[in-house]
Amino acid sequence: MIQAQSLTKYFGLLPAIQDVTFSVEPGEIVGFLGPNGAGKSTTMRILSCVLLPTSGQATVAGYDVHRHSLEVRRRLGYFPENLSLYPEMSAERYLYFVAEMKGVKKQQRRPRVDDVVEKLGLEQVTKRSVGHLSKGYRQRVGLAQALLNEPEVLILDEPTMGLDPEQAAEFRTLIRGMGGERTILLSTHTLSEVQAICDRVIIIHHGRLLALDTPGQLAGRLQRVSETLLHVRGPRAEVLRGLEQIPGVLRVREESRIDDGASAYVVEAERIPDIRPILGDTVIRAGWKILLMSPRAMDLEEIFLRLVAEEEGSRS
Ligand code: ADP
Repeated sequence: MIQAQSLTKYFGLLPAIQDVTFSVEPGEIVGFLGPNGAGKSTTMRILSCVLLPTSGQATVAGYDVHRHSLEVRRRLGYFPENLSLYPEMSAERYLYFVAEMKGVKKQQRRPRVDDVVEKLGLEQVTKRSVGHLSKGYRQRVGLAQALLNEPEVLILDEPTMGLDPEQAAEFRTLIRGMGGERTILLSTHTLSEVQAICDRVIIIHHGRLLALDTPGQLAGRLQRVSETLLHVRGPRAEVLRGLEQIPGVLRVREESRIDDGASAYVVEAERIPDIRPILGDTVIRAGWKILLMSPRAMDLEEIFLRLVAEEEGSRS
């Protein structure tokens, strides 16, 4: 549904993005993740026909963003990083205005505006001027305008930026709910956000694509060491020693005491083979009690730092 092929964009002599290639399948929610200045907005602006690439091609919904930009715009909802709303217009007036700009036929404007107002919970504020709305409501108006043409593809540039945590969570639920029905590419520099809502994640740094995978696969690929959380009731020093002696175990630390002589331990071990059956056997054979055992997943924060370090290592 979205194809980017070797996209490169120079501003003067400086490359903002270089050789960026990826695709987004119909109904997928893909997160574009990277620090400020990584090239997320530049890529999204190219895909939204706002900016021409220096080289490379892209198609959205099967149409070339350069040669068939009108067809692309018809099928696309774009939420730019700095959405310029007209502060003195009422939210409703603004949405009508955008509907007109997007070429929504006159008789369809009211049902479309009513529909996005309902979807985004804007009923209370339709008569208020956009400039007086809270940040949360302004973001919703921004998303509402992107949805007015019932787009197949949504490109959302930092849609939760500036929202408080509660508003951001609400917004994420809303976006998640649109997956399957629409194809969504959204950018963020909040790692937990892609983990919460995205099927796949593209990591970009210094204008280059570092990785494209599911959040889970990425964690798995990078995690050479497994971490297992273990709650065991037994004499602490002995438990620690017993676990440390298992072949393949690299490190054991007691994370916290629980109750009644039980503690939480984190066991770091080589990923292959799976150490968990041996951990269980060891505890049982020693006559201690196992209260809980669960794998600990690496979060995207760690993945990102590791990828960046690997990339920087390979360049120096
Ligand atoms: P991100 O969205 O990941 O924060 P951007 O795509 O906005 O990153 O920026 C990527 C790089 O391109 C940055 O170094 C930025 O300064 C530069 N850049 C972006 N837009 C322009 C522009 N219009 N003129 C000059 N440089 C730009």
